[in-house]
Amino acid sequence: MYKKIVACLLIALLAAAFLPGCKSNREHDHVYGAWEITEAPSCTASGKKTRSCVVCGEKETRDADPLPHDFNTDNICKRCAFELKYNDGLEYTLSADGNSYILSGRGENALTQVVVPFYHDGKPVTEIAEDCFLGSAVTSFQIQNSIKKIGARAFNSCDALESFYMYDSVEEVGNFAFASCTALKSVRLSENLTVLDELFYGCTSLSEAELGSRIIEIKDLSFFGCTALTAIDLPAGLQRLGTMAFSESGILSVGIPSGVTALERGLFLKCPALKRVTLTGNVTQIAGDQFENCPTIEKLIFTSVAKDDWKKMDCAVFWEGENCGNFSLLFKDGKLSLDEAKGDR
Ligand SMILES: [Zn+2]
Ligand SMILES: [Zn+2]
Repeated sequence: MYKKIVACLLIALLAAAFLPGCKSNREHDHVYGAWEITEAPSCTASGKKTRSCVVCGEKETRDADPLPHDFNTDNICKRCAFELKYNDGLEYTLSADGNSYILSGRGENALTQVVVPFYHDGKPVTEIAEDCFLGSAVTSFQIQNSIKKIGARAFNSCDALESFYMYDSVEEVGNFAFASCTALKSVRLSENLTVLDELFYGCTSLSEAELGSRIIEIKDLSFFGCTALTAIDLPAGLQRLGTMAFSESGILSVGIPSGVTALERGLFLKCPALKRVTLTGNVTQIAGDQFENCPTIEKLIFTSVAKDDWKKMDCAVFWEGENCGNFSLLFKDGKLSLDEAKGDR
């Protein structure tokens, strides 16, 4: 029995020392898979959800948001009897197929706290029109689980809007929808979005952005100038990070999912606090201007690329430029100082 225990302990110790999942050995930024609900929420109570890092398996558990209410046409929840208090006086247009309404205008009231109904005149409100609240004074804006589309620039330059919660019903958000919302601190995006289209350009207060897990493309300039954004979890299925997507942001370190195999131009240009970038894919291409004016960058980590492949990588001279940091490159089988790395080219 004693021998068995000792053997088990030894195996556990060896496993802990060599498995990449060991916390103490971690030298990467986590890239998380989708959340899984482990305890179902209700209309009125949170549940629990869990996700794991696709690189090392480390688990994270958080509260799962309450379910969206299941409204009848009087905007009363069929499950919990909650009665939605929404704004009168908003303007609506009937959709082309006549089955739903588009929120098309603010009305004549100078609204600051907006609650959109689920149903208007017996039909669901499924869309917020382009430019609808552009430059308005809204401080809070609550949509329901009926909205499928948010038009381009719908909330652009709403400089008092502090947070936005997007239900999973949303499938499409037009470009620059939240750009230049300088007071926007936190945002939760729909799980059913697949593309981010320059959404948060110039959102200088944004510090919490919960992206949906199905996003495959983050277009150019999406988080440009987000100076309060120090960390972000990128969805594991991401395939493209557009040019200058995080340029001039406050990002400290980030894990880039394995589907992103090319670093496009200026991804981290002028990120004054950037320390570390982890690339988990088989990176084959790195464009220029990556770390110009990133004086604090210390490490560029490749978790899947071997040292020998560095010579074959299609790279611009991304390590040069004004005020570039002196970083080292960590490959899956060893490390190169910046001088050694340059010598290999
Ligand atoms: Zn990890
Ligand atoms: Zn309810």
